[in-house]
Amino acid sequence: MYPAQVPSNTAITRSQQAQIESVLRERFGFTALRPLQRRIIERLMSGAGALAIMPTGAGKSLCYQLPALAIDRPGTTLVFSPLIALMEDQVAALRAKGIRAVYVNSTLDRKERLRRYARIAEGAFDLVYATPERMHKPEFTEALSSVPGGVKLLAVDEAHCISRWGHDLRPAYQRVGEFRGQLGSPVTIALTATATPECRDDIKRALGLDDDSMPTISAPIDRPNLTIETRQTWDDDAKIDAIRDIAASRPGTGIVYFALIKDLDRFADLLRHRLDRPIAIYHGRLDPAQKKRVYQRFIDAAPGDNLLLLATNAFGMGVDKPDIRFIIHAQIPGSLESYYQEIGRAGRDGLPATCAMLYSADDLAIQHRFVEWANPGADLLVRIADAAERSAHEDFSEDELRLAALGKGGDGGRLQHCFITLEKLGVFEPTGFPDRWRLTRPLDHAEIDPAEIEAKTKRDLQRLLNVVELTRSDDPRRVILDYFGPGGENADPR
Ligand code: ADP
Repeated sequence: MYPAQVPSNTAITRSQQAQIESVLRERFGFTALRPLQRRIIERLMSGAGALAIMPTGAGKSLCYQLPALAIDRPGTTLVFSPLIALMEDQVAALRAKGIRAVYVNSTLDRKERLRRYARIAEGAFDLVYATPERMHKPEFTEALSSVPGGVKLLAVDEAHCISRWGHDLRPAYQRVGEFRGQLGSPVTIALTATATPECRDDIKRALGLDDDSMPTISAPIDRPNLTIETRQTWDDDAKIDAIRDIAASRPGTGIVYFALIKDLDRFADLLRHRLDRPIAIYHGRLDPAQKKRVYQRFIDAAPGDNLLLLATNAFGMGVDKPDIRFIIHAQIPGSLESYYQEIGRAGRDGLPATCAMLYSADDLAIQHRFVEWANPGADLLVRIADAAERSAHEDFSEDELRLAALGKGGDGGRLQHCFITLEKLGVFEPTGFPDRWRLTRPLDHAEIDPAEIEAKTKRDLQRLLNVVELTRSDDPRRVILDYFGPGGENADPR
């Protein structure tokens, strides 16, 4: 499905080789490793690290799950994963295979968490999943340091969250290098579906590694079975016509992505009248039970159902359905990273699929506003932090602070990013209860560097301009290939 002609040149012993094959068959029930998996797994088994860049569905998890069982020495494998839902799914799948895996996250009550810490400390698990934020909890780090043999392998999943060049920066991810040091610098694998050359460098730097200790091992960027096209559209009617055309030419399941929920809802109404297909919707404001239902309906949809899903980018991470026949962006995304991740879900079965980006000037304005929100100015950050300091309560929600700092009608999108920035500075921290935060210390106003805010705004705008460049190009595929740099056999000449 994802051919990659990469030579295997890592020295491992015959018995390690046999161990890989037996764990693959007996514990995971697979008959063969995919070429890239073999390359990565052999490297880890030989005691060396790697940065693995493979599209979702290519089989990244096995790259660390198999060595977690096959490396022949005591100790556990720690997996940093940013998403609670994903880690729960992965652990459930491993346990179903009889593999000793556990996760620790804020959804567990304290008693259960302590029980798990105690079992981790005894060495009861081959794989321990947690978010990097958990490294701030002494009970967790103590449990890890008590494991007989310690942490023998560290896997950093969704590693682009480390980099400011990535599209999804997570504050705690920037400290994984320090955490790795605390763990005794174990063999480390970082994994992501997309990373530009700058982002790859940042990941290695943040981990305290370099191209020698952590070479990039990458699947080819190009997906020849995907037709990538862009269409200028002037109004809703033109977009609906385009969606209708593309859906008619590609029977089967499809996704239409929107930037704004209100536009998604409007199109859902329009399309229900004008398209003879079942329509489902998915976005961040659905409650968890609805999300689960829509997700399952989408995954279970047969090609003959012709299901059309209208979604925001809340739908995607971890979606692994082989037969998605088209992905339409009814509004432009904010970066080529998001775009490539989203279209990468099409045509996993290797059969033809269409990826179309519809664009109009209005949509550019939406993304422009997102960039402004994502980079709140110093005065707003100070106002929010001051409101938190004045708050009479021990913890607070976004809504409570919005009212205190901005009054009624305050700007929600902007506020959310203020919280993210203040968390990054270590001024706010999540309490573990949904949507509730606490102040850890007062903000020193000198900490906020307007020059850094300006530089980050420029980077985000540049990212948006790269998307505009794609919409203007006669050869959008070429724009993507150039942007992500070398992949596949060229990625790691050694
Ligand atoms: P990723 O993390 O890259 O999105 P996953 O690790 O979730 O991908 O794997 C995607 C799918 O491929 C899973 O259903 C997994 O069981 C399957 N898979 C992975 N490696 C192999 C293999 N060597 N042989 C057969 N199936 C595999």
